[in-house]
Amino acid sequence: MPDNEFDVAVLGSGTGGYTAAIRAAQLGKRTAIVEVAKLGGTCLHIGCIPTKALLETSGLLHKLRDRREEYGITAGDVAFDYDRLAVRRDAVVNQLFRGLQGLMRKNRIEVVQGCGRLEGGGRLRVDDRTINAGAIIVATGSSPRPLPGLDFDGERIVNSDHATMARRLPASIAIIGAGAVGVEFATFYRQMGASVTLIEALDRLVPLEDEEVSRALLQAFRRSGIDCRVSARVQGARVEGGHVAVELADGEVLAEQVLVAVGRDPNSGGIGLERAGVEVDDRGVVKVDEWMRTSAPGVWAIGDVVGGYQLAHAAAHEGIVAAEDIAGRRVTPMEQELVTRCTYSTPEIASVGLTEAQATARGYEVRVGKFPFVANARAIIHGETDGFAKVVADANTGELLGAHVIGVQATELIGEPALARLFQGDPWEVGRNIHPHPTLSEVIGEAALAVDGVALNI
Ligand code: NAD
Repeated sequence: MPDNEFDVAVLGSGTGGYTAAIRAAQLGKRTAIVEVAKLGGTCLHIGCIPTKALLETSGLLHKLRDRREEYGITAGDVAFDYDRLAVRRDAVVNQLFRGLQGLMRKNRIEVVQGCGRLEGGGRLRVDDRTINAGAIIVATGSSPRPLPGLDFDGERIVNSDHATMARRLPASIAIIGAGAVGVEFATFYRQMGASVTLIEALDRLVPLEDEEVSRALLQAFRRSGIDCRVSARVQGARVEGGHVAVELADGEVLAEQVLVAVGRDPNSGGIGLERAGVEVDDRGVVKVDEWMRTSAPGVWAIGDVVGGYQLAHAAAHEGIVAAEDIAGRRVTPMEQELVTRCTYSTPEIASVGLTEAQATARGYEVRVGKFPFVANARAIIHGETDGFAKVVADANTGELLGAHVIGVQATELIGEPALARLFQGDPWEVGRNIHPHPTLSEVIGEAALAVDGVALNI
């Protein structure tokens, strides 16, 4: 084959794009991946990975500085060095970046550096090179959404990219939006010792989660000293000397910095979608079916650019679905309700499937089981007893409809109920699973048993 002929070309090398490329290569497809910035995309370089590295340090600092005596540790003053924190953050990213470069070589995927644009007819223009591909997968991701009147300057008014790559800590910060980005950064800044105001337009934090989870997070955040303002719409902001004044209906919040975390917009402009006949909706979200096919034959799209849950693991799974469809090896279509949602705040939050309110709204007669971390031995050993696990089931068929966890390591615990849901399992089967003791996983088993009123340790 000539150099510019590929079976599959992937536009964008984030978690969705590189996973799609690897799966396509595994299925015997000659594959190229096109990237304008750095192989690995947002999640690896300025998203999930570096932010979790920041949270690792802030969690450790908080325990050592504020709780060390509780754990029997004596030490002098505990302080941090932001430069060294940044070095570790970058080292974590680089280790994974090198691993990813190796995966591209191992799978013989050609990484094409440059700005790609669809030209229609299976052609992809990358700067002055034209690639021909039997199938194109658009995986261009998303960017932080600005708020009118609060232009990002990277200093006083910042987005999550700026906050992730910062080299210093503001003494005070106002965070607008209490979705995943907002509550993770609220945790980070508070644990590092900054004064934090969290402003959410809707009437609860993490509004997409189960209502009981939102309530528990509000309690935990208020206890940790985060000033949480819900039902608070931002009307404007002014930079004044060393501060920004954020205007709310009932007054102003003054902070050294403002982080705008009100969602992300799809990166669908300027990449030739119109020319290739790919339809987008009025917000620029690429329309796809459950096999990730767009309206244009030969073009698939995955990840944040297609909306749904804008999560790296959802994008990766969509990439697998697309690659398998391209190879004529359909397994199962993409199902948004099987996507686990994970937020790395303290306490952590994780969920899968329907919330109690969603299940009720869909007409299910719902039965719920709950178990608190305070009754779990391992959580007590950790010294992290906030939160609970909640299992939502169909009272008639017994089927597990959803699971919601707020508490230590919730993001690790959600895998079990997610698997049960994939297997169309019932809570009693989860309860029958023999959970090791003492582990946090017992919280899941007990919440599942609680659906039938037979939790043992409460
Ligand atoms: P989001 O949509 O999850 O949350 C934005 C929040 O801002 C909403 O609660 C919304 O009501 C609020 N809001 C909107 N306008 C407002 C205003 N004018 N004043 C006050 N509040 C306002 O968006 P996000 O937190 O920016 O995250 C973007 C995407 O990235 C999401 O899909 C998120 O799930 C994903 N993400 C996931 C993780 C993770 O899984 N750990 C981490 C970061 C981001």
